[in-house]
Amino acid sequence: MRTFEKDYEYLLLNLIPQHRLGLERRKHLERAIRDGEPADMKRAAVHALEELCKVGYYRRADTQVRQEHVLLTYVRRRGRYQVKLQIPVADWLSLGATAQDASPPAVDSATGPVGVDTTFNILPHLIRSLSINDRRESTFDRLESIMRLLPEWLSVWHGRLMLNEERFGVQENRGSWVFTLPERALLKRAVYERCRRSGKTEFVGLPAARALGIAEPPLSSGLDRSRADAEVAITPIFSLGDFWGILEIWFSRSSNGSIMRSRVEVATGMIEQVIENTVRLENLTSVDKLTGVYNRNFYDAQVRIEIERATRSASKLSMLILDIDDFKRVNDTLGHRKGDEALFLVADLIKKNLRKIDMAFRYGGEEFVALLPGTSEEEAAHTAERLRAVIAESDQLRDPAGGRVHIRVSIGGAVYPDHATSEEELFAKADSALYRAKRRGKNRVEFYHES
Ligand code: GH3
Ligand code: MG
Ligand code: MG
Repeated sequence: MRTFEKDYEYLLLNLIPQHRLGLERRKHLERAIRDGEPADMKRAAVHALEELCKVGYYRRADTQVRQEHVLLTYVRRRGRYQVKLQIPVADWLSLGATAQDASPPAVDSATGPVGVDTTFNILPHLIRSLSINDRRESTFDRLESIMRLLPEWLSVWHGRLMLNEERFGVQENRGSWVFTLPERALLKRAVYERCRRSGKTEFVGLPAARALGIAEPPLSSGLDRSRADAEVAITPIFSLGDFWGILEIWFSRSSNGSIMRSRVEVATGMIEQVIENTVRLENLTSVDKLTGVYNRNFYDAQVRIEIERATRSASKLSMLILDIDDFKRVNDTLGHRKGDEALFLVADLIKKNLRKIDMAFRYGGEEFVALLPGTSEEEAAHTAERLRAVIAESDQLRDPAGGRVHIRVSIGGAVYPDHATSEEELFAKADSALYRAKRRGKNRVEFYHES
């Protein structure tokens, strides 16, 4: 049996099977190796090893606390390697999943306010979760670490956050505290639907929770005694007016209602703040400044999500590519500024003439993409024709003398899965249709067909 204590790079490259890790974890790991910062590599190693423990690839054989540090010993499956790592207690706590091992939390000391000591220890991690500057962590990971810290921070048994996929996007459900679910699946439980509708928190005792089909959290050490008395608070998460999911906070025994309520409120406020920060940040980074529609970056992320969604729900996704006709001439004759104005106008008309669930992106230059979920070729062709017409008929753009400047677009369309099996193919097919529209005289709509 070999012991690895210092060579983290070797550890990360050779002893951690990257393909066994979730995508986010893999990215963290690659970044840590690239940056070569020992502390980061160590952290990445512990995160990865903990994840591998969950799937039984490694086993944490020993955990020892030594003043400021925690000494961890992992044993590879079938005992082929032993890996020893020593990390600062703070790093260990931010991992949280296992924080109990290092310092058992006082469960539900509901007699007073949240312990000052606990809050003091955890506060830096909570603040980091709220910060929008640290972009190394995804929102999912931020929420996961809040939920992980929650039991210790609020002295409760367990927290579980179920996020609405329609808002949050499809995530690999790799977390133990945070899950994503399609809205329909989430609201299948009547009690969740009721909370969403009322916007209020409901408290349910364990027997009732069982009867309602709510999964109870895993047993943690030092708890089993009072479980019969446990109670769960179910609360909807709303941010910026949208329904984002359901938060459950489990108390190991029911206690003073106002104390439980205030703890739920603190947790809810924190989660809603993280979500709101993300939405605002995403708006800053995913919206095209000139036109106000989504940018190319966001297109790349979103088209994948929409394809997945369409596949899962066996529905169609139509794509339209719009390209302004003879746009160079607008720039050349009226100047770049007028060109920009035209871009803004076209984007605005596209946005205004799509349904709420459709999305418009500036793909680049004077090209826009519209994604129309749940839309067949026939309906998409209607939409495309409407877009073409409103743009051609718009009389808002004027030259310096006040004369009308005509703006026209050509549109190419394709439908997933009718014409394509991947996002790249869908784009290529819509693009080839667009070029047919240009060839056939511009200011027209064409859809992909085998020719
Ligand atoms: P076609 O009908 O074949 O599409 O001709 P076109 O002139 O529109 O096509 P082409 O792709 O050759 O030209 C696109 C022009 O769009 C080139 C560039 O001057 C202009 N353009 C791209 N981005 C911007 C922008 O941000 N602002 C302005 N004003 N013009 C832009
Ligand atoms: Mg073009
Ligand atoms: Mg053009």
